[in-house]
Amino acid sequence: MSRRDEQALLERVAALLADPTHSAHPLFEPLEALAKKYLNQQQQLERLISISDRYQQLALEARQVTQKRYENSLRRQQKLSRISDGYQAMMRERNRALHQDSTHDPLTQLANRRLIDERLLQLETNGQPYTLVLMDIDHFKTINDRHGHDVGDRLLVAIADAMREVLRESDLCGRWGGEEFILLLAETRIDEARIIVDRLRERVSAVTITRCEEKLSVTLSAGISEHRIGERHLTTLQHADQALLEAKRSGRDRCLVATR
Ligand code: GH3
Ligand code: MG
Ligand code: MG
Repeated sequence: MSRRDEQALLERVAALLADPTHSAHPLFEPLEALAKKYLNQQQQLERLISISDRYQQLALEARQVTQKRYENSLRRQQKLSRISDGYQAMMRERNRALHQDSTHDPLTQLANRRLIDERLLQLETNGQPYTLVLMDIDHFKTINDRHGHDVGDRLLVAIADAMREVLRESDLCGRWGGEEFILLLAETRIDEARIIVDRLRERVSAVTITRCEEKLSVTLSAGISEHRIGERHLTTLQHADQALLEAKRSGRDRCLVATR
């Protein structure tokens, strides 16, 4: 029965009950009680529907609030993790730069004494064979005296770049002093070391920098010493230094092997 039919029926029953001519009819009383009970039940039903609607509305609003809170918290989390990722990347880069600065020479970016000393100790501790080379630029003072310190610096940088081009991944080249360099050639015997040093000297002597249309270049002297099993690395260094001195004394622009 539609809502409208139901309403019409209720109105008809109400009209019949209101008519005084029906008050003595035997159906009057039960019909009146039935109509009352029906109306009561209908009111109760409507109240229940209204409560249920309100409850559903509240539940929906609560769900929306929770969802919104969850989305806000998720956004905050994502933002925090972006900040933390950025911070960690920055710390990694700072650590890398700090390590590079503490182990490399700022002018040439070659290994500094600290890194060389570390590697020498490492080679000694591991009992790994290696050959050590000390190199010194010939008459470098003349370059500084004639053209100035800045030009000398430019030449040092160009020489360091040339050295890096020639050397193998496993070789370690460092700046030992002003215009002195050191090479640590791991797992390398003296004959092979000689070939590497001659190739390096040739490459360095081909390096030129231009100053007032004048092309400047230098040569290198080198002393080579192969580490002997059980020998302290300081001893190997002294032998290489002796050989370098001998290379200078005997005319420079050459490489000599230490005599033992
Ligand atoms: P030798 O052939 O006997 O080695 O002669 P040399 O002139 O190279 O030797 P000496 O030791 O007399 O001079 C080294 C020069 O290297 C002196 C110094 O001014 C220069 N020098 C050292 N460190 C630097 C640097 O960082 N930059 C510049 N431009 N020059 C430097
Ligand atoms: Mg020198
Ligand atoms: Mg020199």
